[in-house]
Amino acid sequence: MTDFSESDFPEIRQGVRALCADFPGAYWRALDRDRAYPKAFVEALTQAGYLAALIPEEYGGSGLPLSAAAAILEEVHASGGNGGACHAQMYTMGTILRHGSEAQKKEWLPEIAAGRLRLQAFGVSEPSSGTDTLSLTTTARREGGHYIANGQKVWTSRAEYSDLMLLLARTTAKEEVKHKGEGLSVFVVDLREATRGENPPVTIRPIRTMINHATTEVFIDNLRVPAENLIGEEGRGFRHVLDGMNAERILIAAECLGDARWFVDTARVYACERRVFGRAIGQNQGIQFPIARAYAQAQAAALMVRQAATLFEAGQPCGAEANMAKMLASEASWAAAEACLQTHGGYGFAEEYDVERKYREARLYQVAPISTNLILAHIAEHVLGMPRSY
Ligand SMILES: Cc1cc2nc3c(=O)[nH]c(=O)nc-3n(C[C@H](O)[C@H](O)[C@H](O)COP(=O)(O)OP(=O)(O)OC[C@H]3O[C@@H](n4cnc5c(N)ncnc54)[C@H](O)[C@@H]3O)c2cc1C
Repeated sequence: MTDFSESDFPEIRQGVRALCADFPGAYWRALDRDRAYPKAFVEALTQAGYLAALIPEEYGGSGLPLSAAAAILEEVHASGGNGGACHAQMYTMGTILRHGSEAQKKEWLPEIAAGRLRLQAFGVSEPSSGTDTLSLTTTARREGGHYIANGQKVWTSRAEYSDLMLLLARTTAKEEVKHKGEGLSVFVVDLREATRGENPPVTIRPIRTMINHATTEVFIDNLRVPAENLIGEEGRGFRHVLDGMNAERILIAAECLGDARWFVDTARVYACERRVFGRAIGQNQGIQFPIARAYAQAQAAALMVRQAATLFEAGQPCGAEANMAKMLASEASWAAAEACLQTHGGYGFAEEYDVERKYREARLYQVAPISTNLILAHIAEHVLGMPRSY
């Protein structure tokens, strides 16, 4: 068994492995075929308290560090499962935790920790702005005790399975702000109310994708958001969500490490068992080397994931490390996916081996939550001091 993380949080890892054993490949395969939500799995993770790992004990969570959450998600993916249906329940609340008022924390965090309230949708991406988040055009205009929001989000994952959504919207026109990072604000939207009735202000439309990810388009038409649902300062929303984005990247990187473990192990076992030309295919260096290389890549990425998590936990700047961890881990898992599929030959394409499903799932992380090109541009500009390219 390959283990990139040595023995950090062994009891948590053991517990997650035991839980995931009840959700084998056949479970994920059936959901994938129907593009159905893994309700029973999410319920089990919630009941076991894993999704409340990062919520402080005073608000009903376990108060664990980010690296413990990383261990949980790595194990989910190493088991052959996928955390995409619920991983955001762990970290989306971080914006409230770090920037919300005491009243907001008391109102939402204990309910989220108990699993009675789902906050696992985060509306940032829009059709016209793409990666250029600061050009987003969804607006929220103050009117008395409310903000009136209008616009459209895309790729808002899990919105159908979330009670609340974190919404990033423009409260001051781009032309009127001094610094480009200003003028955006972050709100908690109650999707239960906003989607109710005949002509609701929020309409959620699922997008069918190559993986089972419950992602959607969200249309917002004159949505009234109570002013007390503004998190932090008006106009500073982009700053408020940035540290949450670092947490997300580190946790996604951990999922990639779990995927890499699954692919390497699955390929290794198959390579040792499958006999062609009278010997195990794993005896051929052409089969061994890509698996060994992917293993080495994943080991290296694991060190970067750990470094990024350590900085995050110490409250230190970790933008570059979180981005590099996500990039390196997503490339390592993809190298492992390639090696695993190739090792399986034609059987890699058969659904019952789970390789093709995991292969499709692993590809996402070079695009979302941020694409590799944008990470390279960040490193070039902010770490290496090269000219801004966009
Ligand atoms: C399954 C899925 C789930 C998602 N979930 C969410 C979610 O829950 N919430 C949310 O807000 N978003 C979500 N996203 C959106 C995701 O974050 C974006 O797709 C991603 O950031 C890329 O943005 P884009 O698709 O608009 O690509 P674009 O910005 O259109 O870019 C297209 C390509 O051009 C490249 N490119 C663009 N500009 C440059 C440049 N200056 N230099 C070099 N290359 C460049 C990009 O790297 C990319 O490869 C999800 C996406 C998917 C597919």
